[in-house]
Amino acid sequence: HEHEDHPHASKKDMAQHVRRLEQVFTLTPQRMRMIVDAFIDTLEIGLAEAGHAVPMIPTFVFGFPKGDEKGPFLAVDLGGTNLRVCHVELEGDGKFEITQSKYRLTEEQKQGEGQELFDFCAECLASFLHDQYGDEDGNLNLEDDIALGFTFSYPCIQERIDQGVLLRWTKGFGAKNVEDHDVVEMFKKSLEKNKVPIKLTALINDTTGTLVSSHYVDPKTRIGVIFGTGCNAAYMEKVGNIPKIKDLGLPEDAEMAINCEWGAFDSEKHEHLPRTKYDITIDETSNKPGQQAFEKMIAGLYLGEIFRLVTCELIDDGVLFLGQNTYKVEKPYAFDTAFLSLIESDTTDELLLVTGLFTHFFQLDTTIPERQFFKRLAQLIGTRAARLSACGIAAICSKMGYVDDGCHVATDGSLYNKYPKFPERIHEALVDIFGEKGRGILTHHAEDGSGVGSAIIASMTHKRKQEGLY
Ligand code: BGC
Ligand code: MG
Repeated sequence: HEHEDHPHASKKDMAQHVRRLEQVFTLTPQRMRMIVDAFIDTLEIGLAEAGHAVPMIPTFVFGFPKGDEKGPFLAVDLGGTNLRVCHVELEGDGKFEITQSKYRLTEEQKQGEGQELFDFCAECLASFLHDQYGDEDGNLNLEDDIALGFTFSYPCIQERIDQGVLLRWTKGFGAKNVEDHDVVEMFKKSLEKNKVPIKLTALINDTTGTLVSSHYVDPKTRIGVIFGTGCNAAYMEKVGNIPKIKDLGLPEDAEMAINCEWGAFDSEKHEHLPRTKYDITIDETSNKPGQQAFEKMIAGLYLGEIFRLVTCELIDDGVLFLGQNTYKVEKPYAFDTAFLSLIESDTTDELLLVTGLFTHFFQLDTTIPERQFFKRLAQLIGTRAARLSACGIAAICSKMGYVDDGCHVATDGSLYNKYPKFPERIHEALVDIFGEKGRGILTHHAEDGSGVGSAIIASMTHKRKQEGLY
């Protein structure tokens, strides 16, 4: 119902704001094609030389799994929001069984002393193992040389599969004394401290895990993408096309997965992405200003905050919530991206779900025009994120020649899985970019990359070692 006791902003004001916002948040097909071209150059330069913002990290994951990988494996998955511990039994025929536990990370763990974060990972693994495989005397009934994959979803520069130096934290993490350190070394120290008798075999990015696990069940998979708290992609590259590692003397025709770390696209000069003043504010108030420019316009961590910044501006301009106390909205990161998902999913005429969201979480009454405004705003922000995401996918597909034959893009993350129409909007954008050919690029929900993918990579690594390969 309408609250007649609050003064209303004029319809004209609101319409003007909507038009302005439509202008700054809309990506035309032509603009997307320009972004794709710049993106392709960025991918190539990252492969050619070290030290660029988009680091195109060689992962030392050589080629796709055969599908006959077999046996029990462990995985620890440190993502953006949770810590997960998994036991995966690969059955050797593209099937697997997984047992897992999830632990929520606290803000202190994300910002505190780095070694303590790894201690927490080791403690969780230890208690998982004791719960699942411990006997009364505290002994573990585990296969002797069970391998552990560590999925650590931040940019790490690797020289081997079981090593990696953290380039920079992303996704709001800031734990001390981890950047510029080998995170495998740190985690091993914590494993020893907790007397966990497990061998850490591989350090894995979630995108690489996604690429590999999805290829295990769908051999048409060419790219693994995450649209979650953060965003990023991995794909398989010929070693001969990675000039910056030519000194390693690896066979030119071998294939290696590349973790693009594309979230950093356009962070150096800001010359390609249509950043708004809201994007600039997000960047400047983040714990890592000047980094992850692309990710900050797309990922789940930020979309709610973009929405909030626009809302606050219109409150200041006297357009929204006239006469009400808006202090709850003024708190940074007060809107979760799940909030936008809910707004977009409201299909009632009077947007009653939106009404409920604002009264329940913010003690604010909304008029119908205000609710229509919020729905439009969520659409604009969500659509821009999907269309930018499509630019990244399009760049890899163009560069690799996947457009003509079509390919499957294994995609995971809360934004992709839960945000209404996110996949449809990506597909629409791919058609805007490539015309009808864009229909051959299909994103689909990935297999669990951070758990199962990690296990498969641990298994591939184990086999390579036995065969005496690099
Ligand atoms: C990280 C990537 C990761 C992505 C998705 C980004 O912030 O830099 O390593 O793959 O988030 O989790
Ligand atoms: Mg994850």
